[in-house]
Amino acid sequence: MKIICIGRNYANHAKELNNDIPSEPVFFLKPETALLPKRNPFVYPSFSNDVHYETEIVVRINRLGKHIHEKFAPKYYNEIGIGIDFTARDVQAELKSKGLPWEKAKAFDGSAPVSPKFLPVSQFEDIQNINFSLRVNGEVRQQGNTKDMLFGINQIIAYVSQFVTLKIGDLIFTGTPAGVGPVKMGDTLECFIEDTTMLKFNVK
Ligand code: MG
Repeated sequence: MKIICIGRNYANHAKELNNDIPSEPVFFLKPETALLPKRNPFVYPSFSNDVHYETEIVVRINRLGKHIHEKFAPKYYNEIGIGIDFTARDVQAELKSKGLPWEKAKAFDGSAPVSPKFLPVSQFEDIQNINFSLRVNGEVRQQGNTKDMLFGINQIIAYVSQFVTLKIGDLIFTGTPAGVGPVKMGDTLECFIEDTTMLKFNVK
C-alpha cells in the first residue's frame, strides 16, 4: 500500500507557512513504513529538532482505479479516518530552499500515525462538513472542518488518479488546517472526528 498526502489544502494553513494557494492539488507520497504500529509511541527522530504535527482527515481506498472521474470517486472509498502527517519542519525548510524533494522531512518511519478504526462514510450527512481536531496533553491545538478544503475528497481522488493508480488499502491524507506546531518528547496526542476519540499516542 501507499500513503498519498495532499499539501496546502486549507487556505489558512497555506497562509501560516507563507505558501501560495495552489491552483491544483499538491501531493507527495509516504511509504508503508511511515505507519505507526498500533499501541507504539511516536519516536522523535534524531535528525530533527522541529517535528510538527499536521492533523488530517484520511480516506481509505477500497477499489482499484485509474483516471477516476470526480463523479465516480465516491465509489472508491467508504470509510474516513484521521491521522498525523508528521513533518520535520527544519529539514523541510532546508530541502525547500534548495528545491529538493521532501521525503527526508515527510516520509520517515512513524511519520504517518493513522487511527486504528475508520468510520463509515454513510454515518456522515456530508463528508465535506466534518469537524476534526487535535489535542496535545488535553489542550486543543488544531480544529478543522472538511468544508474548508480547497480541493474536496472527490476532486483529490480524480486528480491524483490521473498520475497514480489507486489500489485497495491506499490511504489519502487530505491536508491540514491551520495551527500546526511542534511536538516534544512526553507529549500525548489525541485526534478526534467530531466528538469521537479516534487516535491517541505518546511521543517518546
Ligand atoms: Mg500535511
